[in-house]
Amino acid sequence: MAVAGIPPILGLIYVIVGIPLVAYLLHKGKFFKKIGIAFTLISVVLGFLIFAPMAPFQLQSVVLNDTAALGAPVGVAIGLLILFILIVFVTGRIFCGYLCPIGAVQELAYHVPVKKAMPVEKNVLFVIRLIVLLIFFAAAFFLSTGILSYFGIIQFFNLDITSILFVVFLVLLFVSLSFYRPFCRIICPLGALYSLAAMKSLFKFQRSEACTECKKCEAECPTNEAKREDAKGECYLCGRCVEVCPADAISYCRK
Ligand code: SF4
Ligand code: SF4
Repeated sequence: MAVAGIPPILGLIYVIVGIPLVAYLLHKGKFFKKIGIAFTLISVVLGFLIFAPMAPFQLQSVVLNDTAALGAPVGVAIGLLILFILIVFVTGRIFCGYLCPIGAVQELAYHVPVKKAMPVEKNVLFVIRLIVLLIFFAAAFFLSTGILSYFGIIQFFNLDITSILFVVFLVLLFVSLSFYRPFCRIICPLGALYSLAAMKSLFKFQRSEACTECKKCEAECPTNEAKREDAKGECYLCGRCVEVCPADAISYCRK
């Protein structure tokens, strides 16, 4: 339902302002749950209004060399994608956590209080994700096809309810009620690249000496990333670990 007259560049501005703002608030310990939900709601609304900031689709258009879909020279789009990967090396996955409309709508679904699925072993998901990433690149290079177009994201945010693909994304959203972010953790090619960068990010959630090893954070984390030694590649900075920590021992800080 992209609304004519609202420039899609608003999505880019939102990301450029949003990432440092969220990082600052996280670092100062002032990023409360309500603020996170507000960001995710804004992101979803932007997804409906202007289909932006849809960075996974930008990556797909770059790989397909689809300049019409990009609405900008390929060089500029590649530069921005590299810039945002570099930002993940500093801040972690703030874009995925709060600003991407696809991630945000799954995050909101997971807030619905229904029984949650047990977290899947990280190595298993890593292998599945790697296979999907290879399929993504193979389909783009050998078949000139973007596999993201088959998950109904465009139809969902365009409210194209007559399309069968709309139903595909609805099913993904239904799964998101109990399995945390299936699209982000298995399918999204950009998320896979961000995940690698986030493992080395300068700022991430870390435990202080106040930690009593009660493991409440580990039990709460939907992605199995809350252990002291976890690299945090799949940490979406959701804050669930921080919220349940009785010792107030987790903060978003430099390694
Ligand atoms: S993993 Fe992909 S779809 Fe999910 S939030 Fe990140 S960029 Fe968006
Ligand atoms: S619970 Fe903590 S470690 Fe797990 S994804 Fe959320 S912020 Fe990251």
